[in-house]
Amino acid sequence: MRTSRATIEKLPKIELHCHLDGSISMQTIRRLAQEAGIKLPVSDDDLRQKITAPQDAESLMDYLAPFDFVLPMLQTEAALELAAYDILDQAQQDNIRYMEIRFAPTLHTSGGLTLAQVVAAVTRGLAAGERDFQVKANALLCGMRHESVDSVLTVVDLFADGGLTHLAGFDLAGVEADGFPEAFAPVLEKVKANGIPLTLHAGECGCAQNVLGAVEAGASRIGHGVALKDIPESWPSLVADKITVEMAPTSNFQTKAVDTLANYPFKQLFEAGVRVTINTDNRTVSGTTLNDEYEKIADWYDLSETEFRQIARHAFDASFMSPEQRETLAKEF
Ligand SMILES: [Zn+2]
Repeated sequence: MRTSRATIEKLPKIELHCHLDGSISMQTIRRLAQEAGIKLPVSDDDLRQKITAPQDAESLMDYLAPFDFVLPMLQTEAALELAAYDILDQAQQDNIRYMEIRFAPTLHTSGGLTLAQVVAAVTRGLAAGERDFQVKANALLCGMRHESVDSVLTVVDLFADGGLTHLAGFDLAGVEADGFPEAFAPVLEKVKANGIPLTLHAGECGCAQNVLGAVEAGASRIGHGVALKDIPESWPSLVADKITVEMAPTSNFQTKAVDTLANYPFKQLFEAGVRVTINTDNRTVSGTTLNDEYEKIADWYDLSETEFRQIARHAFDASFMSPEQRETLAKEF
């Protein structure tokens, strides 16, 4: 029996894959714009067009435009703090009990902030959100793949700083070229040498080999992994290695990572025992919530409540939460 919306809303959830800059609510964007002195369309409908990608985006470029619109508003400590806090507010409405929010520190320095200041501001926002909402949270730092290896290494160095709480793991995001795990080998080796938990965006562009390269480089989680549909022979090894795949149904279709439902491997991966999870990727850009994403999966595949609980358990197991956070949440998952 298809799981109802009411049941979905009540399920305790975990979200592992959500980008800060793509997930800020409209009302907070209005506040940030005012503080940055940026003029916005007066009508909410007009503003929504600027901050949300079309459901039938023609290309990845259509999907990326809203990020360029919002980034100029995220260049001060106060703005970053408020953005992180705002996402935990939204998470509570999804009954998310633990969440990892990722961002690329290098995208927030045009107003003069240092990388360390950027990270500290976001994690302060998460700490404030944890106090006010029933949601635990951590940050993941992204290196951008259009930047140089040296630039991305400066992001990895932030983990050595110490003193920062709520800093849980590392990711590589942005344009995905064939063979990126090899191109960023010096980065991924440093991540591994320092024992930093690793998730990597991979297999979002038809390049299935990137998923295997990401696992080889030490990623315990794969962002999207849609191209796994092309290499079912690799699935048993993903099961054996307990690799978790962070899928985001709405985003995966918008970015053209997949064209038809028949080609979307979520259900087959799940049935093969691969640890799939459900995520929003970008709440505002994709115009979605985690409840909406669960409902989409319910509509497509007729999953039972038990199966949704299993998927949430995958996210719990694969999360980069601290031992204290894990202990607090263990009963619910
Ligand atoms: Zn992503």
